[in-house]
Amino acid sequence: MTRVLTILGATGSIGRSTAEVVLAHPGELRVEAVVGGRDAAALAAMARRLQARFAALADEAGAAALADALAGSGIACGAGESAVTEAVDRNADIVLAAISGTAGLRPTHAAMKPGRRIALANKESLVCAGEAFMSAARQIGAEIMPVDSEHNALDQALMAGHVWDVEKAIITASGGPFRTWSRERIAAATPAEAAAHPVWSMGSKINIDSATLMNKGLELIEAHHLFELPEDRLGVVVHPESIVHGLVQWRDGALTAGLALPDMKVPIANALRHHDRLAMALPRLDLAAIGRLSFEAVDEDRFPCLGIARAALRAGRAMPTVLNAANEIAVAAFVAGQIGFYDISEVVERVCSSFSARELPAPATVADALQVDEEARRHTRGLLPGSPDAAHN
Ligand code: NAD
Ligand code: MG
Repeated sequence: MTRVLTILGATGSIGRSTAEVVLAHPGELRVEAVVGGRDAAALAAMARRLQARFAALADEAGAAALADALAGSGIACGAGESAVTEAVDRNADIVLAAISGTAGLRPTHAAMKPGRRIALANKESLVCAGEAFMSAARQIGAEIMPVDSEHNALDQALMAGHVWDVEKAIITASGGPFRTWSRERIAAATPAEAAAHPVWSMGSKINIDSATLMNKGLELIEAHHLFELPEDRLGVVVHPESIVHGLVQWRDGALTAGLALPDMKVPIANALRHHDRLAMALPRLDLAAIGRLSFEAVDEDRFPCLGIARAALRAGRAMPTVLNAANEIAVAAFVAGQIGFYDISEVVERVCSSFSARELPAPATVADALQVDEEARRHTRGLLPGSPDAAHN
């Protein structure tokens, strides 16, 4: 049976990998709509390649460029919020949510429909508004299926037993580009060095998050919401080869692990079809050729972001919302050359500690979470160099 798919963030790294999976299975997946951020030409090219029926660009200013680029194709299109809403409202069995950052939250939330599967790559949706997001999915009757490789591996490993027998869920971290660097050398790292990921080829924000290890922190929060496990039952281990992605430790001492070559097409294909697996013509994992898999503990002195994220998860309420917002602003400032590498963790920690957990609400809705998110962003901007408030903080 042909399944109908809509792709949010179709021009990004995950979007392009999803397109490869779709194009390799023409009879099994058909694309209804594609959504992109700003690049009208790239979105039009993707819509044509996938023979989508509708293309929506979030940036209203790109309306004419998108219409021009799609002229004669028969593909309907629009730009701005209403076009994105039309894209998520059109009929589709599966929506692959791969907009980067918190910008993905509203469209992904709007894409929830009864019986629809949300193949979720946009981890920030869960970090910003975890409880509200998951409870909306339950109420609406939408299924959330993780695309993030670690969580997709955990989802598969969890099928080996009962949830009440799970002792711990463990995700692996490649360690990023600075795994073997000294603290002094990391302190002087440039945005280009931080963006050069040793294993995965991804979008720029997630590359910086991988260098700070905040990506693992966000993923712990993501795992907490997806699998309903408290912070002390979630583990992280550094595994530079990125072959083992997630492990479930059972109460009898056994472990079930999810392994695959580091290629996002594997978890994407799994999230799209789940039990009814797609045949993927990708290289197979040859363990004998690899020879050795290595693991090490996270060095929290050189990578403080993981501990900061764990503390936010333990604090609960809207603290992960604050953490996520502060991190996005700090990462953008680092990329713009305004602050140094370790200023990212310092800024995030300062923002989190100034929002004491007790004063924070427990966001019941996505709109509540976005309100805290906005406040935390404003506060973070005030701490950055050049801000009129910076000297007073
Ligand atoms: P990317 O930057 O390569 O692509 C982002 C996509 O979102 C682009 O299509 C862009 O046009 C679109 N976009 C940006 N802002 C938008 C807006 N306001 N409205 C609509 N569209 C908008 O990012 P990516 O690496 O593909 O990551 C996407 C998401 O998947 C992120 O949340 C990331 O954390 C997650 N993820 C990525 C990887 C990976 O390997 N790249 C792995 C796991 C999870
Ligand atoms: Mg991941």
